[in-house]
Amino acid sequence: MTGKNIVLFGPPGAGKGTQAKKLVDLLHIPHISTGEMFRYHIKNNTELGQTVQQYTTQGKLVPDEVTIAMVKERLKQPDVKAGFLFDGFPRSVPQANGLDKMLATSGFSLDHVVNIAIPDAEIRNRLAKRAQIEGRADDADPKVIQNRIDTYKSQSEPCLTYYRPKGIVRDIEGVGTIDEVFSRIEKIFK
Ligand code: AMP
Repeated sequence: MTGKNIVLFGPPGAGKGTQAKKLVDLLHIPHISTGEMFRYHIKNNTELGQTVQQYTTQGKLVPDEVTIAMVKERLKQPDVKAGFLFDGFPRSVPQANGLDKMLATSGFSLDHVVNIAIPDAEIRNRLAKRAQIEGRADDADPKVIQNRIDTYKSQSEPCLTYYRPKGIVRDIEGVGTIDEVFSRIEKIFK
């Protein structure tokens, strides 16, 4: 199906996870969060978990080849034929390139890159709050938070420059209540 191959993009703390859950309920597509996949592997102490832990605890990106290989496996599952919502992937231009190649081999392409934008000060506030609520270790340490913001700016944000000429970036103002932000996102699909 066309129109439901989606990337949810934005800095850490933009609300991607929260908005992703609402959007997959609306569109009936699988939610693919690479962060959640890594956390699952770390919790279960798999080989992949042991490889990636050193990066996630420091707020650094897991190497592209490791991340791309994991996503490639996920895209082999039949549920993605209905569409998919990537949350936290791609996070670098090589990953964006890798995704395009993976999709092209199955005859797919991306329909929307939903870019949730929030100011830096708001990122810090939200991550500090999330650390208290969810107890995520990578949200608690200010140094790790700063690393994740710097990593976003230097490695992830350039993905937007990669996608803009393709005409698929949908910019969403990320400040507001969860429902306000979701109603902005919903309009893309109406
Ligand atoms: P998230 O839950 O999306 O904030 O991801 C948590 C952590 O997992 C990140 O800080 C990275 O260390 C790692 N991670 C998640 N997605 C990716 C990705 N696409 N590329 C590299 N590392 C990632």
